Amino acid sequence: MQLFPLFAQLGDRRVVIVGGGTIAERKAELLSRAGAQIVVVAPELGVELAGRFRAKFEHRAKEFAASDLDGAWLAIAATDDPSVNAAVAASAGERRILVNVVDDSALSTFHIPAIVDRTPLTIAVSSGGSSPMLARLVRERIETLFDDAWGLLAGLLARARERIRTRFADLGRRRRFYEDVLHGNVPQLLRQRREHEAEAALEALLASSAADAGGEQAAAVGHVTLVGAGPGDPGLLTLHALRALNTADVILHDRLVSEAVLDLARRDAQRIDVGKIVGKHHMPQAAINALMVEHARNGKRVVRVKGGDPFVFGRGGEEIEYLRAHGVPWSVVPGITAAIACAAYAGVPLTHRDHAQTVRFATAHRRHSDDDTDVLGTHGETLAIYMGVAEAAALRDRLLADGWAADTPFAIVENGTRPEQRVVLGTLGELVERAQGHHVHAPALLIVGAVAALAAENHWFAAPPCGA
Ligand code: SAH
Repeated sequence: MQLFPLFAQLGDRRVVIVGGGTIAERKAELLSRAGAQIVVVAPELGVELAGRFRAKFEHRAKEFAASDLDGAWLAIAATDDPSVNAAVAASAGERRILVNVVDDSALSTFHIPAIVDRTPLTIAVSSGGSSPMLARLVRERIETLFDDAWGLLAGLLARARERIRTRFADLGRRRRFYEDVLHGNVPQLLRQRREHEAEAALEALLASSAADAGGEQAAAVGHVTLVGAGPGDPGLLTLHALRALNTADVILHDRLVSEAVLDLARRDAQRIDVGKIVGKHHMPQAAINALMVEHARNGKRVVRVKGGDPFVFGRGGEEIEYLRAHGVPWSVVPGITAAIACAAYAGVPLTHRDHAQTVRFATAHRRHSDDDTDVLGTHGETLAIYMGVAEAAALRDRLLADGWAADTPFAIVENGTRPEQRVVLGTLGELVERAQGHHVHAPALLIVGAVAALAAENHWFAAPPCGA
């Protein structure tokens, strides 16, 4: 080990920062979070330090002198003058004060790690001065793995620590108790911001584990997370979606969920393709519901991934009703729905001060064929129509009958956000010919309204639109 890692208690202890620029400001910000008493030595302060931070430190408007280090526990040299930085390092060395010289690992006697702050949990990463950028990249990865529920968990466990210790004097049993907590529903309840319930669950675990302290591990509590995976580009996943995929035991996914997204999931999770066509049919909804409940009851973390958003034409509503009826705990991670994503990737602003004040998400697919309510509205707005391309002729007729003009622009976005994305433009009157002529296939989203024409100028992703 090149460097010895340690976490310093700096509350009300003096730390001297030499330098008044941006880097000094960043160190000051970090140190003030740890409650340090900060002294900044610099003839002049940069805008950041002079601004919002001014009240949080003592400023000595002068050149550095060795005596500035009197009473300091740590020193940081953050000037852009190497001779000043070297002087700070030398004076600190004489006084046995640890010093960090920014960007100079040879002169530094301590390094400041890249950190993931989930107070009281703190994860620090160091590359031993070899490559701070690498440490920063590692930090970014870790940042995506641990959401802020971990901070709440650490706080909860800190409050119960003494009691846990007395209950489980034996180290092995204590360890098993902590594993039960991690695998139970406490972290999930914290994620759902139900802190009282989390606390109660911890108490229950403490009580039951105490009773059979020598016995089996408590049964893990299953959970279903409905996750919106967005339209295909894995960069459009939310951090919550990524974390859910990373910690899943079982993943039930649809046809619309792209391979690129599934590639990010935990390798040893069991994957079930519920969108697969078996014989002539997809897996029926009832079978999907039953699978979710079965795995959750076996204590698994089940992730039900859907294209786009689970609550937009995704049957998410039906699934949570079923889970609720069967007493299975669940949560929802929203996703970027096809209308939002396809419009953005085709350069179509769904609302625009000059063209459209309203946007409506509609589907051409109706549950009952005699259901003839006017879901498609009238002009003056943008329509984003899901599952519409196969029924282009019927759609066109309904829109024209509803009073939409035949020269209203449309944009079809096929495979939106994916490398093979195609955009077909035209007017409502030519919708059917255009869709057929370009062999448009699912998944495709149809945007109708004045804004659709803007794709001709605004396109920026993949192939330029056809028919522009
Ligand atoms: N829950 C999904 C919608 C499922 S319905 C969401 O929020 O996006 C399926 C329809 O969504 C498809 O028929 C198509 O109209 C649309 N769709 C989904 N992904 C798409 C994509 N990548 N490109 C174009 N349309 C898409």
